[in-house]
Amino acid sequence: MTTDPRTMDKIVSLSKRRGFIYPSSEIYGGLASAWDYGPLGVELKNRVARFWWREMTQLHDNIVGLDASILMHPTVWKASGHVDNFADLMVEDTVTNERYRWDHLTEEQREAKTSPNGNPLSEPRVFNLMFSTHLGPVQDSSSTVYLRPETAQGIYVNFKNVVQTSRVKIPFGIAQIGKAFRNEIVTKNFIFRTVEFEQMEMQYFVHPSEDEKWFSTWKAARMEYYESLGIRPERLRFTEHGPDELAHYAKTAYDIEYEFPFGWQELEGIHNRTDYDLSRHGEFSGKDLTYLDDQSRERFIPYIIETSAGLTRSVLMVLCDAYDEEEVGEGDVRTVLHLHPRIAPVTVAVLPLVKKDGLAERAREIERELRDDYATFYDQGGAIGRRYRRQDEIGTPYCVTIDYETMEKDTVTIRYRDSMEQERIAVADLANHVRSSIKSYKRAAL
Ligand code: ATP
Repeated sequence: MTTDPRTMDKIVSLSKRRGFIYPSSEIYGGLASAWDYGPLGVELKNRVARFWWREMTQLHDNIVGLDASILMHPTVWKASGHVDNFADLMVEDTVTNERYRWDHLTEEQREAKTSPNGNPLSEPRVFNLMFSTHLGPVQDSSSTVYLRPETAQGIYVNFKNVVQTSRVKIPFGIAQIGKAFRNEIVTKNFIFRTVEFEQMEMQYFVHPSEDEKWFSTWKAARMEYYESLGIRPERLRFTEHGPDELAHYAKTAYDIEYEFPFGWQELEGIHNRTDYDLSRHGEFSGKDLTYLDDQSRERFIPYIIETSAGLTRSVLMVLCDAYDEEEVGEGDVRTVLHLHPRIAPVTVAVLPLVKKDGLAERAREIERELRDDYATFYDQGGAIGRRYRRQDEIGTPYCVTIDYETMEKDTVTIRYRDSMEQERIAVADLANHVRSSIKSYKRAAL
């Protein structure tokens, strides 16, 4: 029987205990809303990024990658509208001094001007979310630079470079993964909303007459992506931004939301940004950012369809979605992460049943052979059942056990994390067997 045991406490505690995520600078008491990715966390995060990158670049002829720097010319942020518009309205509980985002309060709280604690609120104050710093030794307004609050602008200012130096033709996309920074008023829920985070963005440049067609194409494709990552469809939904919620650049916007243990929240934004960004950068830089269609000879400013997902937020989402506690025998419960094999930090654990009689040496040899293609882990300590459980808890999809039969017949057992079923296969077939199992992986309904 499976219950729904999702709670943030359990996920935070598993993350710490097994080395996925630690509080930043913990020995000094931590830094609010900053987190460090431990040995398993960095593998998971890199693999989620890799999964996205494969999906958004490798599987398309017309999407190319980019890695722009975090610090950019300050005029970028004037042109983009972030200096003037990238602000939240902040209010303070006049008794407890707790801060809230105005748009996160309920309508009743906003009308009554009371905090969630029922205390009077201060007047709303505009608060720009960009972190600024200074370039060079002189700290005056002319040296101010910003830590980018989104990766997208790095793509827009390189539009011309990419068109001139690669063979892309409209419609085409530029994809990028990187850090972004926002001085968030309220950070909570573990790594859900942090001041330093990573985004995975793909900006798709289209002819203005085709914006709606491409918007719906990407909207559908992005939902399919989450399903291909093994995320439960019933925990995913779209919500459309109403006219008063639209960002200053957007014509249409949908969020893909996930049902976290703390409620439905945004995972990714899909926006029709029109020709706003390229027009503004053209205007502020004085450069011609139009595109010439060499067939029709038409010159135009492309529209941009943006898909903007949080990488670190996706890590939280996959942990929440994968986490389960399952009754596996009388009074026996296993904690398991049903991670898609493509993103699991360890793909194959290799376990000798016992250390003696050459089993450990043979297991090491098999593990070394698999290493070339898969993230492997070798563990010879303790009862085999306990070793399986340790791998279940970190989401390892395959455990390979070396026993006495291995020594005689060169076969091993492979144990599948989700079903806990075991199968005997020849060592010679192992690598291919794992490959086809990963390819055909489908998460069982829970
Ligand atoms: P919100 O209104 O919740 O502050 P937003 O709508 O401004 O967020 P976008 O600018 O659309 O967010 O950012 C795109 C994606 O980047 C989000 O869907 C989210 O996954 C991620 N993201 C944004 N802010 C943060 C943050 N502070 N911490 C972690 N991820 C974030």
